[in-house]
Amino acid sequence: MGSIAGIAVDLDWSLLIIFALITGVLAVGLFPAWHPEWPVALYWLAGLTAAVLFLASVLAHEFSHALVGRLRGISIRHITLFVFGGMAHMESEPRQWRDELYMSIAGPLASLAIGIGCLILARLLVGPIEIDPAAPEVFLAQLGLTPSVLLWLGQINIILAVFNMVPGFPLDGGRVLRALLWGMTGDLRRATRWASAGGQMFAWILISLGIAMAIGVRVPVFGAGLLPGVWLMFIGWFLNNAALTSYRQLLTRDALESVPVARLMTTSLTSVAEDLPVSELVERHLLHSEQRAYPVEQHAGGPVTGLVTLQDVRLLPREGWARTRVAEIMTPIDRLVTITPQEDALEALELLGRGNLNQVPVMEQGRVLGMVRREDILRWLSIHGDTRRDH
Ligand SMILES: [Zn+2]
Repeated sequence: MGSIAGIAVDLDWSLLIIFALITGVLAVGLFPAWHPEWPVALYWLAGLTAAVLFLASVLAHEFSHALVGRLRGISIRHITLFVFGGMAHMESEPRQWRDELYMSIAGPLASLAIGIGCLILARLLVGPIEIDPAAPEVFLAQLGLTPSVLLWLGQINIILAVFNMVPGFPLDGGRVLRALLWGMTGDLRRATRWASAGGQMFAWILISLGIAMAIGVRVPVFGAGLLPGVWLMFIGWFLNNAALTSYRQLLTRDALESVPVARLMTTSLTSVAEDLPVSELVERHLLHSEQRAYPVEQHAGGPVTGLVTLQDVRLLPREGWARTRVAEIMTPIDRLVTITPQEDALEALELLGRGNLNQVPVMEQGRVLGMVRREDILRWLSIHGDTRRDH
C-alpha cells in the first residue's frame, strides 16, 4: 500500500468487510440512536469518518509495536491490517524477555492513550454540559458531529486496549504474560506453552459465549443474537488457531536452531561454465535433473562466478535462449545471498523467507560447498521435528 518510517503497510482485502461493517453499524444503528433528528447523510458522514479514524488508530497501535521493537533492535519490515485488526511482522523473535515486554505493551498503551485523548477532546469540545446518569440520551443528543465521532472512537480504542491485553498468546496481553514468565523461568519454550494454553482457553471461552449468544442467551457486555454470536465464534476460532500455530512455530525454531546447515545441504551439485548457452542449460540439465540452481564457473573446473536458476531462465524469452550465455542471466557471486556451513538451519530458513528464495548456496572461502534448499529443511523437519516432544 505505502510505507511510513521505512515500514511497509499492507491492507488485506478482508479490511473492506470490517470497514463496511463499522460504517454500516454506526450509520444505521448507533448515530441514529444518539441523534434521531440528524439527516440521513450526516449519519453516513459520521460513520465513514469514524471508520477511517478507527483504522488509523489500529495503524497507530501497530506502529507503536513496530517503533518500540525497532528501538529494542527487533526489525519490523511491514504491518498488515486485516479483519481482526493489525499485525506487525517481526523479522526475528525477540532475544530477551524485556524486549518482548516493552514491544508488546506499547500497542495497548497507544490504544489506551488515543482512547483517553479522544474522550478528553470530546469533553473539551462539548464544554460544560451536565450529564444526567438517569437520562444519558439527553446528553448524547446535544453532541455535534465531531464530539459524537470522538466519543465512539474513544470508547472503541479503550475496548481495543482491554481486549488486546487479555493474557492469551499471541494477543499482546499473551505476549506480555509470556515475557514475564520467560523472565521468571528463563525458559522461553515453557513460557510460550503456558501463554499459548492461556490463548486457547480464552479462545474457547469466546467460542462458548458465541454459541450461547447464537442460540439466544443474553451475555453481559456482548449482548445476544445470531450475527454477533457467529462473529464471536469466528474470532475465537481464529485466536485458537493463532495460539496453536505460534507454539508449533516455536517447536520448529527449537528443532532447527540446533542443526548446522552443513548437515542439510545438498552437495552433489552440477556446475556449468559461463559460456554455456541457456538453451543447452535447459536441454542438458534443467530437463533431466531435480537441480534447479547451478553454480556458474568461469570455465569448467574454474572459480565460481555466480548462480543461475530455473527462475532466471523463465524470465528470459524463449527466442533468446540459444544466443544467450548463462553468464548474462546469472546472479553474480557478489550479489548472491549465501550462507556458511556453520550457520544453523533456522537462519537458512529465515534467509529463504526474507528473499523469497528456494535455495541458498553454502559458501566458504569463495567456494560453493553445496546448496541448502527449502525442501531439504522441510524434509528434515518432517523426520525430526515431531519426534522431539516437549516435556
Ligand atoms: Zn497489538
